[in-house]
Amino acid sequence: MNSEQAAQWMRRTAKKLVEHKDELSKLDQFVGDGDHGVNMERGFRAVVERLDDWRELPLSQLMQKIGSALVSNVGGAAGPLYGTAFMRLGAAWKDERQADGPAWMSGMTKAVEGIAQRGKAQAGDGTLLDVWSPVAATLDENEPDWKKVEEIAKKGMDETEDMVVKKGRGALLGEKSVGHLDPGAVSSFYLFQALAKTMN
Ligand code: ADP
Ligand code: MG
Ligand code: MG
Repeated sequence: MNSEQAAQWMRRTAKKLVEHKDELSKLDQFVGDGDHGVNMERGFRAVVERLDDWRELPLSQLMQKIGSALVSNVGGAAGPLYGTAFMRLGAAWKDERQADGPAWMSGMTKAVEGIAQRGKAQAGDGTLLDVWSPVAATLDENEPDWKKVEEIAKKGMDETEDMVVKKGRGALLGEKSVGHLDPGAVSSFYLFQALAKTMN
C-alpha cells in the first residue's frame, strides 16, 4: 500500500460509514448509548476533509495524521481506540512510503497491542478487538490475501453476536449483551472491507 491507496482506503471507509451510519447507531442503542454511527461518520469525514493537505506525506506520517484526527474527531470510547491503531501502524512503518507483507504483519500486531492496552481488553470481550485481532493473526510475511482478510474480519464481527460484552458500555448489560453484534466490530468490518476493495 502506498499513500495514494491509503487515501483511497479512507475515502471508501468514510463512504461505507455514511451508508451504514444509522445501522451502527442502532446497534449501539442495544449495547451502548446509540451514537457509534454518528461518531464514526464525524471522525472519518474529518479525515477525508484533510487528505488533500496530507497528499505529500510518506505513508508512515499519513497514518499518524489519520490516527490523531480520529482521536480528536470520533470521540467516545472508539476514538482513542481507532486512533491508537492508526498511530501504531504509522510508528511501525516509520519513514516507509509503502507497506508490504512484513510491514502489514508487524504493523497490525502493534495496532492490536495498542488497542488492547488502551481498552484494557482482549479478544473475546465482544469489542472491535474481535475483528482486529484475528485479522492481525492471519497475516504473515507474504503480501496479504485481501479477500481472506475481509472474510476473517466478517467472521470476527459475526462472532461478537454470541459474546457477553466485557468492556465498554455494553459490559453494563452483562448476559443481556448476548444476541447483538458489537457496533465497533461492525464498523471495523467496514474498514477492512474497504481496505480489501482498495487493494484488490
Ligand atoms: P461510546 O461507548 O463512548 O459511546 P462508541 O459508541 O463510539 O463510544 O464506541 C463503542 C465501541 O467501542 C464498542 O462497540 C466497542 O467495540 C468499542 N469499545 C468500547 N470500550 C472498549 C474497550 N474498553 N476496549 C475495546 N473496545 C472498546
Ligand atoms: Mg456509543
Ligand atoms: Mg457515546
